[in-house]
Amino acid sequence: MRIYNSLTRKIEDFVPNEPGKVSMYTCGPTVYHYAHIGNLRTYICEDVLEKILRFSGYDVKRVMNITDVGHLASDADTGEDKMLKGAKREHKSVMEIASFYTDAFFSDCAKLNIRTPDIVEPATNLIPEFIHMVEALLEKGYAYKAGDNIYFDTSRLKEYYVFGNQNEEELMVGVRDDVSEDINKRNKNDFVLWFTKSKFEDQALKWESPWGVGYPGWHIECSCIGMKHLGDRMDIHCGGIDNMFPHHTNEIAQSEAYLGHKWCNYWFHVHHLNDETGKMSKSKGEFLTVSLLESKGYDPMVYRMFALQSHYRKPLTFSYDTLDQTAATYKKLKNRVLSVKADGQADEAEVKDWHDKFAQAVGNDCNTAMGITLLYDVLKSDLNGATKLKIIEDYETVLSLNLLKEDKKEETDDELTAYIEEKISERTQAKKDKDFAKADAIRDELKAKGIVIKDTREGVTWSRE
Ligand SMILES: [Zn+2]
Repeated sequence: MRIYNSLTRKIEDFVPNEPGKVSMYTCGPTVYHYAHIGNLRTYICEDVLEKILRFSGYDVKRVMNITDVGHLASDADTGEDKMLKGAKREHKSVMEIASFYTDAFFSDCAKLNIRTPDIVEPATNLIPEFIHMVEALLEKGYAYKAGDNIYFDTSRLKEYYVFGNQNEEELMVGVRDDVSEDINKRNKNDFVLWFTKSKFEDQALKWESPWGVGYPGWHIECSCIGMKHLGDRMDIHCGGIDNMFPHHTNEIAQSEAYLGHKWCNYWFHVHHLNDETGKMSKSKGEFLTVSLLESKGYDPMVYRMFALQSHYRKPLTFSYDTLDQTAATYKKLKNRVLSVKADGQADEAEVKDWHDKFAQAVGNDCNTAMGITLLYDVLKSDLNGATKLKIIEDYETVLSLNLLKEDKKEETDDELTAYIEEKISERTQAKKDKDFAKADAIRDELKAKGIVIKDTREGVTWSRE
């Protein structure tokens, strides 16, 4: 297994701390809104990494946090509190928002066949552990109190920018959404470990601490949750590329200052999903979620395939045209797989041989596109049906594309079909007449009956929800 390590900026042989075992940590979502498909690209790639490790024979323990406190609009401790923002938007309590969007996140993950990590820990579960770490950092002289908050002192470290490639743009992260600079910070990149003097009078979640009532900064949670469940040394830490700075840089700073030794050996970062304008913006256009794709008639597996066809370290450009192409490719691939008859007896030596080939292909820095190519090679080969199916079943433990799962037969009576077709032609006429209100009303009428229609270049298609 070889993997690109953001710390060394090289592809390295993967050597875990303990032979045969892998401790893996994933930064989880801030549960104040639905997950964007750009965020979900990261979770798909991390899921594949975990499955490749298991495929290669490792015993993996994977931990993920849920951020339900402390994450401000800017990753550098400024701006509005994200959870509070969500609560205000929906006139609910912070905990109601957290619980609703945690469920929504895992439901999206399930649709995308993303395995739930072995341990999922909400930040609000471990407040005493956070306080303990902050106390230790103060004792060791790595933290200071100013303006009633506790800050980490980045000037105490020999090397703070451990990922090296910090450019001005990345350093501007904290300034971007900024309203006012925090004058309590001794150094520009010092970060909050514990907020005591809340900037928000109506901060919903507060806890007693040795420094007064307050709440934790965002970065501390991943260090504490990681150490609690994976010990003082972890093998792989994952996240989106935008987590590299300041979040992961700060995690390393505080963890290694606290432990006094190296914390995590391999850092795995998934690159951005962009739209054709170059940046995926939440503020303009539609907010792209799995549900939105489903409502447009896409099987979530098509999005998973879309993510797996590209390499996780390359930015990926999203467009409906590309997704349509992937949908067609996926359908063809799935039909081919489903048409394989289980003829003969599986040739175990071949199964093993193809297993090793796949492990080598995807084990080369998660080359999932190569894994899919191998799947086509299996289909093209002259192996018997039973052997092919066994190999595909094996590959599916990593790809997880539901290729062997028969779609539910859609039993539709003729009467219903006639009704739907009549409605579709009525809608087409309404659109020709530029009566869009009527066209939308017809679409909604069908949707209420569980029928989703989709406009494609070949005309209007429909499916059950
Ligand atoms: Zn994190």
